Amino acid sequence: MPSYTAPLREMRFVFNDLLRITDYADVPGYGELTEELVDAVLEGGARIAEDVWAPLNQVGDEEGCRFENGVVRAPAGFKAAFDAWYQGGWNAIAAPTAWGGQGLPGILAMAISEMAMSSNLSLSTYIGLSGGVAGVLMAIAPDELKQIYLPKMLAGEWTGTMNLTEPHCGTDLKLMRTKAVEQPDGSYAITGTKIFITGGDHDMAENIAHLVLAKVEGEGEGLAAVSLFLVPKYQVNDDGSLGPANGVVCGGIEHKMGIRGSATAVLHYEGAIGHRLGARPPAKTEGADDAKSGKAKGGSSRGMAGMFQMMNGARIGVGYQGIALSEVAYQNAAAYARERLAGRALTGAKYPEQAADPIVVHPDVRRMLLHMRAFNEGARALLLWLSHEATVSRHGGDKERRQLLGDLFNLLTPVIKAHFTDVGYECVNMAMQCYGGHGYVREHGMEQFVRDSRISQLYEGANGVQALDLVGRRLGHENGRPVRGLFGLISTFLADQDGEEMAPFTAPLKRGLDDLMAATGWLAQHASQNREEAGAASADYLRLMGTVLIGYIWARMARIALDRLAEGTDDPGFYEMKLNTARYYMGRVMPDTAALKAKASAGAEVLMTPDDEAF
Ligand SMILES: Cc1cc2nc3c(=O)[nH]c(=O)nc-3n(C[C@H](O)[C@H](O)[C@H](O)COP(=O)(O)OP(=O)(O)OC[C@H]3O[C@@H](n4cnc5c(N)ncnc54)[C@H](O)[C@@H]3O)c2cc1C
Repeated sequence: MPSYTAPLREMRFVFNDLLRITDYADVPGYGELTEELVDAVLEGGARIAEDVWAPLNQVGDEEGCRFENGVVRAPAGFKAAFDAWYQGGWNAIAAPTAWGGQGLPGILAMAISEMAMSSNLSLSTYIGLSGGVAGVLMAIAPDELKQIYLPKMLAGEWTGTMNLTEPHCGTDLKLMRTKAVEQPDGSYAITGTKIFITGGDHDMAENIAHLVLAKVEGEGEGLAAVSLFLVPKYQVNDDGSLGPANGVVCGGIEHKMGIRGSATAVLHYEGAIGHRLGARPPAKTEGADDAKSGKAKGGSSRGMAGMFQMMNGARIGVGYQGIALSEVAYQNAAAYARERLAGRALTGAKYPEQAADPIVVHPDVRRMLLHMRAFNEGARALLLWLSHEATVSRHGGDKERRQLLGDLFNLLTPVIKAHFTDVGYECVNMAMQCYGGHGYVREHGMEQFVRDSRISQLYEGANGVQALDLVGRRLGHENGRPVRGLFGLISTFLADQDGEEMAPFTAPLKRGLDDLMAATGWLAQHASQNREEAGAASADYLRLMGTVLIGYIWARMARIALDRLAEGTDDPGFYEMKLNTARYYMGRVMPDTAALKAKASAGAEVLMTPDDEAF
């Protein structure tokens, strides 16, 4: 069975060395932070993830969810682990104190969620989505619904789901058929079928709050007619008690490649009573092509804006799944590599007392281990840095910084979603490779990590659609202000580094930035004349941007490691390894930017020339 140890030393490095979170006492939630409090929170999260959730991961995969007599049953043990999470208050770390939360910074909750996802991705999906639904309700639900739903959801008595996908449409939501018909009492009757709904039905909570996108009868066609509805599984009385079933019928669950403990349900809405969320649209105009890219135009309601807000948050969460699975897979691969004996070191036996050396002596095994580690540490630091900066900039006085961070967060959301899950999946596969044939059999759990992590490239908007969203919409936002802000941020950092010791980190970063700027210039020139050029470049461009971003954060971490070693530290091994991993990233990953630039600017012609029938 695989094991999991929360990466507390790494998280402490990010919080204390990189972000210096105790320096932001004026920012709401940060005032109470001390290194001791952060340690206590992280250690508490580690206990439940390692001791309660991780032991259920393989069981959940083998048993899976079951659909019995119209009811979905979660795997054995999930309900107790789910309850332990809520009873420990782990879902409420960053929730507002007004709703019974602890009001601590969101980055602490993110670190805890990493532990949840690493230890048991299936179980984490129920909780992650419920948190997202609660966030939408806090933002746009009328007060009477908030008063009823939020305490139940934050206590884990009720869970939440997000319903967009239908049998004939996932990406292109303007094809949606689910209808909402206004009733005399102001509620809506919802009718239609949604598929692939995560946590759509299960037996771990009393009620489920479904957020459903549906077209309102009489409000036009396309995306302009789409609004957001809150549709409970059981009707809810004014005092919060449960009423009768609400016409939401579970038609079954999917039999999937991975996350088999996460119920993926077909839901039939048969005139179910729904509450419209957000104001009605001000005007009815035809929407854009692709709702999942967040492109609804004109008449899009505030409810849709709420759903897009949830989807953006969910994309960051799914991006984090890429790191979380790569982390747990790496840990097991590293442990195996230190134990498994095969061959001898190329320079001669390193452990002559043993029949063979452990495979960790081999350069190629080390290459795989360092590759995973460079991604895990770099991507985690980047994501927490960006989230932290976005939060603190909202509370500081510097308008320019606030605008820059808002821009960056918006620009980089699809990059985090797609790059982190693409590379995360590659890393999980590498971890399996370290096990040889033993990675392919079930016993060690590595093949489960591969199967579980694959979904993150598909759901929350397939990665190809994320890339299209980046180049087609976010790159040109405000005439390119966000991407210019990104270039400025990295250039300023580079200009501030003058010491020779930083050259191994700054020179590759500078080359990567030049490649990114050149590819951006190529896109600006070609994509405006021919949108197929943007589509053809999109995946390589997104990967180029993701690679440079992680390079940026690695250069910053190298700076910190050099400084700590120069001033003297009681943990030199940690900082030396940090520098070594930074060198790996600069030497072995950053050179990819030249190839990615070439691919991103290779043009659409070769893709678009063959007739459709030729494929
Ligand atoms: C396990 C699981 C859980 C899920 N959970 C939920 C959930 O909780 N709620 C929910 O609403 N949905 C959920 N989904 C659905 C998921 O979000 C969709 O499957 C996903 O968005 C892709 O939609 P699709 O499957 O219809 O693919 P399609 O839209 O048919 O796309 C197929 C392929 O074509 C590409 N493509 C499509 N359009 C374009 C374009 N314009 N340009 C370039 N490429 C394009 C896509 O990138 C993709 O590779 C879940 C799915 C799974 C498998």
